[in-house]
Amino acid sequence: MIGDPIAIARNLLRCPSVTPEEGGALTYLESVLRGAGFEVHRMIFAEPGTAPVENLFARIGAGGPHFVFAGHTDVVPPGDAAQWTHPPFAGDIAGGALYGRGAVDMKGAIACAVAASLEHLHANARGPTGSLSFLITGDEEGVAVNGSIKLLRWAAENGEKFDHCLVGEPTNPTLVGDMIKIGRRGSLNASLVVTGTQGHVAYPDLADNPIPGLIAIMQALLAEPLDHGSAHFDPSNLEFTTVDVGNETVNLIPVEARARFNVRYNDCHSAPALRTLIETRVQRAAKGRIRWRIAWEASNADVFLTAPGPFVDLVSSAIIDVTGRKPALSTAGGTSDARFIKDYCPVVEFGLVNTTMHGVDERVATADLMTLTAIYRRILDRYFS
Ligand SMILES: [Zn+2]
Repeated sequence: MIGDPIAIARNLLRCPSVTPEEGGALTYLESVLRGAGFEVHRMIFAEPGTAPVENLFARIGAGGPHFVFAGHTDVVPPGDAAQWTHPPFAGDIAGGALYGRGAVDMKGAIACAVAASLEHLHANARGPTGSLSFLITGDEEGVAVNGSIKLLRWAAENGEKFDHCLVGEPTNPTLVGDMIKIGRRGSLNASLVVTGTQGHVAYPDLADNPIPGLIAIMQALLAEPLDHGSAHFDPSNLEFTTVDVGNETVNLIPVEARARFNVRYNDCHSAPALRTLIETRVQRAAKGRIRWRIAWEASNADVFLTAPGPFVDLVSSAIIDVTGRKPALSTAGGTSDARFIKDYCPVVEFGLVNTTMHGVDERVATADLMTLTAIYRRILDRYFS
């Protein structure tokens, strides 16, 4: 076999690339991709207040169509390594599973994409008709400011135009082939602040307690759904995450009460329209009596959808061919770097089984690595046929 996903995955897992450390993972990928004829660029992105992070772009072929695999080699910390059955950066194989931090999220999938590409290029000796690229960041699990955002901008400035992208995040709940992610909900964070007048608890007439007003507004926001879902999305959800007064005194009516919330929103809304909708509801609940304000936090997680069509069909049919399973087309779950890629080309996500990601004993069945490699190979063969 020209490309062995298990060997590649083991080599990647042995690199301790906890964000923002490169850990040798990109250097290893560079050597493998260069060996296969890819032109490889390494770049370090930095910004005041954040750690500099290494990134990689590799490309082979010329002209279109241009297919790009995207992913991250950084991993979350292993936690207490003593809790692991196998050391988190050893790449041990036991009982048919390859253990290590990043096995499913997502060094395993990167290994499958590399192996599938090597096999595809070997079978098509003149190289792909079109271009095949890898867009690999070391800053996905962290603050994500020195990763894909800047890598995509760098690629655009260097004349790279992508037609389609596949991100190898772990998308499957139980079996490889369960689920493709064709979009993601947007995410907004905010603090709702109600102001009153401080005073003695025994003389409430002389004070204005902000707590009942905060409760009234929270109840109003929870009482009414933001929408009823759309063709490809569940209903949007507003979730309060903390309520804070910070009053240490038993005989004092506080001056301020605040509640933080997060909204996961679907394609019924844009972020500005959603902010307006929520503020309108708060305004109504306040009835002109409650003094309130909402502090919205900056967000770079907009909702997006890659509408079902030929590209999604191509990925689906490759999965069906290899596994016999028809994948669900989902938009559930948290955000990923696909939120940045969607500004450049249609993007879908499909990778390994996600049950052990970020956990102790993160691991992948070696059989799953073979299956995912076969699926990626099939996608490439069809895409460049
Ligand atoms: Zn990931």
